[in-house]
Amino acid sequence: MKIFNTKQALQQYLLQCRQNGKTIGLVPTMGALHNGHLSLIKQAQQKCDVTVCSIFVNPTQFTNADDLKNYPRPIEADITKLESVNCDILFNPEVTEMYAANEQWHIDLGQLEHLLEGKFRPGHYQGVTQVVYKLFDIVKPDYAFFGQKDYQQYLVIDKMVQLLNLPVKLVMCPIEREADGLAMSSRNIHLTADDHAHALVLSKALAYIKDNFNGSNLSEVTHSAGEMVRNQQGVTLEYLEIADGETLQPATDESAHLVALTAAQVGKTRLIDNMIIR
Ligand code: AMP
Repeated sequence: MKIFNTKQALQQYLLQCRQNGKTIGLVPTMGALHNGHLSLIKQAQQKCDVTVCSIFVNPTQFTNADDLKNYPRPIEADITKLESVNCDILFNPEVTEMYAANEQWHIDLGQLEHLLEGKFRPGHYQGVTQVVYKLFDIVKPDYAFFGQKDYQQYLVIDKMVQLLNLPVKLVMCPIEREADGLAMSSRNIHLTADDHAHALVLSKALAYIKDNFNGSNLSEVTHSAGEMVRNQQGVTLEYLEIADGETLQPATDESAHLVALTAAQVGKTRLIDNMIIR
């Protein structure tokens, strides 16, 4: 695997690849890689000739200084994992390589920015679009791969691609879960054994909605699933909603696609999860 820390060296190498007619796939990550990330790399490898994984803990998308400070950064283990799946390229820049001092960024994402995650992490999606725009500009990928795990993030990036007419196709990849149902996340490292057991209520509540939604009982199943989470010791629910899969506005009978999304504080760790309902 080739490892690049600078934009210039990566761009020089990718120019050669492109001149040789190779297609390029990008998998942006913040590292602390798990099987969810590796499933994105595998999808990229199936669709593209050259796969670039970026590992960059992007400071501008953090809304909590401690969260940024404590974010896991096991780079050596990450390199071993990427090599084990034959990833072609790792791009692992320093913050100063990605940002000039006092850089400004704003893109009008409409309502999507302020719902759900946006409400609890104001400014988060400005930081996400800022870094993803930069990564797209550096790598110029034909395809970029994102997880359904961050469903709202996918919609936000899709919106940016449409607004700015960016020449990249996005692919949404399914959520990888532990055998017990917990959605894989880099933040799961922070869960104690008790937290892990408590966190299972999130995927259980989402599965409850999926199993019990009959087309006309939206508020009943949402209420019952919310109660399941609220009654779980060690878990503080932030939101659990069934939303329109395209807009993330509250679901209506006309919504062709429905997704149930949740976020909760489990012990000291904030977790998110979602499930496509229809
Ligand atoms: P992160 O490192 O958390 O920024 O995630 C990098 C990419 O991996 C994002 O597109 C996430 O949606 C995706 N991802 C994170 N967790 C999972 C998972 N459990 N299954 C599939 N993809 C995931």
